[in-house]
Amino acid sequence: MQTGELATTDRKYQIHSLHHPVDEQDTLIFVSGKGIRIRDTEGREYIDGLSGLWNVNIGHGRTEMAQAAAKQMNDLAYFSGYAGSATIPSIVLAERLIKLAPAMATVFFTSGGAEANESAFKTARYYWKVMGKPEKVKIISRIHGYHGVTLQAMSATGISAYWKMFEPRVPGFIHIPTCYPYRFVPANAGETPGSAAADELEKAILREGPDSVAAFIGEPIHGAGGVIYPTDDYWPRIRAICDRYGVLLIADEIITGFGRTGRWFGLEHWNVTPDILSFAKGVTSGYLPLGGIMVTRTIQNALDSVEPANRWMHGYTNSGHPACCAAALQNINIIESEGLAENSRRMGDALLYALQDTFGDHPNVGDIRGGKGLLAALEFVEDRSSRKSFAVERDFGNRLRRELRKRGVITRTRSAAGEHPAPGDQVLFAPPLMIAEADIHNLVAITKEAVETVLRN
Ligand code: PMP
Repeated sequence: MQTGELATTDRKYQIHSLHHPVDEQDTLIFVSGKGIRIRDTEGREYIDGLSGLWNVNIGHGRTEMAQAAAKQMNDLAYFSGYAGSATIPSIVLAERLIKLAPAMATVFFTSGGAEANESAFKTARYYWKVMGKPEKVKIISRIHGYHGVTLQAMSATGISAYWKMFEPRVPGFIHIPTCYPYRFVPANAGETPGSAAADELEKAILREGPDSVAAFIGEPIHGAGGVIYPTDDYWPRIRAICDRYGVLLIADEIITGFGRTGRWFGLEHWNVTPDILSFAKGVTSGYLPLGGIMVTRTIQNALDSVEPANRWMHGYTNSGHPACCAAALQNINIIESEGLAENSRRMGDALLYALQDTFGDHPNVGDIRGGKGLLAALEFVEDRSSRKSFAVERDFGNRLRRELRKRGVITRTRSAAGEHPAPGDQVLFAPPLMIAEADIHNLVAITKEAVETVLRN
């Protein structure tokens, strides 16, 4: 089939994530990839500026990944991971993950991120029931947070566009402002954006009643909500507040895990450990679907202490899928042996410096975010001193995305939406962790050209 025919067939037969026909006028159909580059059916090559969907950490086209999955499929493609049954790759991978996240004790596998967070929320409720506190069921999350789109995960997600046409949300999910240093200004002198935003959690726990709150969930650094970096005081203070009120801390490390921020997991930057850690994406670099949660010894003990009749009645057909786990093991070997977390740290610094060099004095760039691995963003404004965003009608973000694509860069933009504080238009960067410095400069130079083109028109 030629591209046109494929596109017509696609429109006719497939519902896409975030489906709307308006986006399917010029669908790109990708056929191959190597390193940071991907190629479409027309033979055009693009820099993958977002590692697929923040997940292809090792880059495209690694044949060892295919070999690892194929070997496992040849031996045993599938068997159940329900209690009393296991496969070898899931056992080896579980141990490997706990060695990477030593504050955690044990792992449960899912097929992706939303299922991981579903499992985290249910485990938090389960834990409190075992502890004799069955009323602790509410989950607090943050505006601009993204946690997936199944009903519970959607209800935790703090971006209203994801709920609007699917309401009502699941009861007991509460949103608070996040630490957004560029937009969230503390009300009182002496507070930092980090302390003020963390105190929003304390206020919410007190408002709801500590006896009703099971857990708080947050991404160490926001991803889909705009690559928003917290200040350094934020996470330690969040941890302390959770401890003070007996609220479990769930770290959604689905983007920030597996070297993305220059460490194995994002919260390591602040020496904070969660009670439950959700992972997905980079665990296999997207070569096969896999996710899961890791929990502390305390939670593991709760799971192991109950009567069989009160067992943790949760699980999926694909939990611990052997081929996916074999791919994850190979992926972790690659990240480790090629020093990709370290490369992410160095290239993340290079990306931040290049963005600062290029856009530091730009009248329409209000905020430049980055510096913890390959996770960066520019936030555009009409006016730097007032931090006023471009009018929605200007459609800056979408136009920028199209200009980037014309110049051979695929990445995500985020446009001003209904949340408070409302972000301006943003362009987000999270290229594969093996990117070389020359391509960092390519990426930034192309972005500069695309930005100037949109501003001129
Ligand atoms: N949490 C975060 C931080 C994510 O970025 C994502 C995916 N973008 C999810 C959860 C949901 O993962 P999935 O799409 O695999 O359900």
